[in-house]
Amino acid sequence: MAARPKLAVWKFASCDGCQLTLLDCEDELLALGELVDVAYFREATRAEVAGPYALSLVDGSITTAADRARIAEVRRASEVLVTIGACATAGGIQALRNLRDVDELRAIVYPQPAYIDALATSTPISEHVHVDFELRGCPIDKRQLLEVISAHLHGRAPAIPAHSVCVECKQRGNPCVLVLGTPCLGPTTHAGCGALCPSYRRGCYGCFGPMETPHAPALSRALLAGGADRGALIRALRTFHVHAEANRVEAARLERIDHGDGDEDGDEDGDEDGDEDGDEDGDEDVSDDD
Ligand code: SF4
Ligand code: SF4
Ligand code: SF4
Repeated sequence: MAARPKLAVWKFASCDGCQLTLLDCEDELLALGELVDVAYFREATRAEVAGPYALSLVDGSITTAADRARIAEVRRASEVLVTIGACATAGGIQALRNLRDVDELRAIVYPQPAYIDALATSTPISEHVHVDFELRGCPIDKRQLLEVISAHLHGRAPAIPAHSVCVECKQRGNPCVLVLGTPCLGPTTHAGCGALCPSYRRGCYGCFGPMETPHAPALSRALLAGGADRGALIRALRTFHVHAEANRVEAARLERIDHGDGDEDGDEDGDEDGDEDGDEDGDEDVSDDD
C-alpha cells in the first residue's frame, strides 16, 4: 500500500479554536485518517512522525523570537503550508498589542514583566515565511477546511470563494439587515461562514476579516449615515482582524476624523461627519444595536 501523505498541524499564539475545527469534523475524521497520516498534531496526540510533511496546517500568530525561529523550521519541513484562522492569517485579536507600547502592557499585566519574552507585535505567518494558502475565519469553517485538505490530496486549487458575505447572504435569500437598520460589515467581509449572522437577523461583525477588494470607506460612510457610532465601528474593525491592512487603514482614518484631522482616502463628499453624537462609548458592538 502506498504511503499516505503526512499531515502536520502546528500551533503558535492562538486559542487553538482553529486546529480544533479539524477534530470537529467528526463525520469525516475516519475517512480522512485513511487518506492522510496525521504525523504531528499535539492537540490530538503525543505521537510524532518526523517530517518532511506533505501538508502543514498552521494555527496562530508570531509573538516571540522562538516562534519566529520555529515557523522557519516548519516551512522548511513542509511541502505545502496553509495558515488557518485570523490569528495565523492576520495576527489575531492579540495584534491589539501592535497599537500600544508592549513594555507598558507587560508592566501592567505581569508582576514580573522581566520574565516575559515577547515581541512588540503579533504578526501573521505570511510576514515571516511563504504561505501557500490562507484560510480565513475566527474560527475557520470546517467545510472550508475539508475542502482545502481535499484539494491538496487531489492536486487542485481549493475552491474557496474570495467574495463578500453579502453574496452568501443573497444566495440564502436573507432580507438585508443593513437595509432594515442594523449595522452589518458583510459588504467588506470575506465569505466562508454562509452568512451565519444575517441568517439570524444579526449584523455581521467581520470575524472572517476583510474580503479581497473591500471598499471600507464606502461602508463606513453608509453605516455612519445610518446612525452607527464611529467609536463602535473603530472597535469592530480592531477586533478579530485589527492588523489586517484594510481594517488598519480604515480604523486609523476614522480615528483621524475623530481627532479633527479631516477625512481622507476616498471620501469626497465632505459631509460624512455631520453626526454630532460624541458619545462613542454608548453601544459596544457596531452590529448589535437592537
Ligand atoms: S482565529 Fe479565532 S478561533 Fe482561531 S485560533 Fe485564533 S482566536 Fe482561536
Ligand atoms: S445583511 Fe449584511 S451581509 Fe446580508 S446583504 Fe445585507 S449587508 Fe450584506
Ligand atoms: S460575524 Fe460575519 S463573518 Fe463572522 S460568522 Fe457572523 S456573518 Fe459570518
